[in-house]
Amino acid sequence: MRVFKFGGASVKDADGIKNVYDVLQKVGFEDVLLVVSAMGKTTNALEEVIKNYFEKSAELNSSVQEVKKYHNQIVMDLFEDEKNEVFAAINAQFSDLEYFLAHNKSPNYNFVYDQIVSYGELISTTILSHFMSFMGIQTQWVDVRNLIKTDANYRDAELDWSLTQTNISKNIKRKILNITQGFLGSDENNFTTTLGREGSDYTAAIFAYCLNAESVTIWKDVPGVMNADPRYFENASLLNQISYREAIELAFYGATVIHPKTLQPLQKKEIPLYVKSFINPLLKGTSVAKGVDLEPYLPCFIVKRNQLLISLSSIDFSFIMEENISEIFGLFHQFKLKVNLIQNSAISFSVCVEDKFDNFNALNALLSKKFKVDFSENVTLYTIRHFNDQAAQTVEENKTVLLKQVSRETMQVVIKEN
Ligand code: ASP
Ligand code: MG
Repeated sequence: MRVFKFGGASVKDADGIKNVYDVLQKVGFEDVLLVVSAMGKTTNALEEVIKNYFEKSAELNSSVQEVKKYHNQIVMDLFEDEKNEVFAAINAQFSDLEYFLAHNKSPNYNFVYDQIVSYGELISTTILSHFMSFMGIQTQWVDVRNLIKTDANYRDAELDWSLTQTNISKNIKRKILNITQGFLGSDENNFTTTLGREGSDYTAAIFAYCLNAESVTIWKDVPGVMNADPRYFENASLLNQISYREAIELAFYGATVIHPKTLQPLQKKEIPLYVKSFINPLLKGTSVAKGVDLEPYLPCFIVKRNQLLISLSSIDFSFIMEENISEIFGLFHQFKLKVNLIQNSAISFSVCVEDKFDNFNALNALLSKKFKVDFSENVTLYTIRHFNDQAAQTVEENKTVLLKQVSRETMQVVIKEN
């Protein structure tokens, strides 16, 4: 069996959905499982709904209507016949969402988040599978929440591998086209959970692992894994083949083409991962597999914007030692700041972090009691794997370098963009 993952950008409108059909025509769809994300920017739009819900905003209803309108337009573009069952199916899903919003009693933000945000994937897969049937492909729509079991750590749920394995082995039919949702799972009580933003790649890897799949293909709007983000670098080139290890390193440093959790299950069973263009599906793209990197190590550039550089120094010139460091890390963890780079000297300690949840002010209040805290907001972290002088120059030229760290294979620079 082959597992294909189609992300939000690949199904952002009616043409995108038709294109999925074209891709399947070209590469085959027998014995295939499709893992599909929410359409376009739906997850962000649903996050807006969640925000309005918690803020009891007057915009709540209109934000839901916006999501509805967007999907209705796609459905109308795809199915001329308003009698097609898909209309009723989508309406039913929106009714469920509205029922939840009207009746939910839980004040637990993360729980509510998962119950709401999941409609993005439920609706996208419903539309896609109706369209495939409409085009004459026999499909099975699978509610992934019956298969992928997790703990109740909403928004970042941890997989229960053994239950999931049993469910997947039992329920996925071979020889036909299966369509299911990325990103979602369910807990012990069958409440919906999610695996973390952009988690659909991981879903594809979970299925591939449990099905002993022949391969996983992630269909993208780029030709494959590039050595740099073509939106920011002029001469980005395609990496034809990379090892799991290199891919894990790239994902770790923030290359967004592959979700970091995806590679581990694949690597364990040596299931190859292909990253290919959904525009040119017959091109080879990138293959991630076991073994040596065939590339003549091209420098790879990874850019993380909107970072926070924090430097802590001791107030009394005492050293920053293990116990301080472990306390500092404890706090970063507690306040959910993601640490992307660490550098320390005798009396100071610098970290480049991501403050997704806007917790730095609260953390700073605590840290300032013990340390002198300096920080720069809105800095950019550049990572270059397999750097050379020229690569370093591209990044540093005409910019203010706040911090730099070099190891054998990797160079990281924190920059204040001028
Ligand atoms: N729709 C989810 C998100 O945007 C999951 C995914 O796309 O992988 O985060
Ligand atoms: Mg998405």
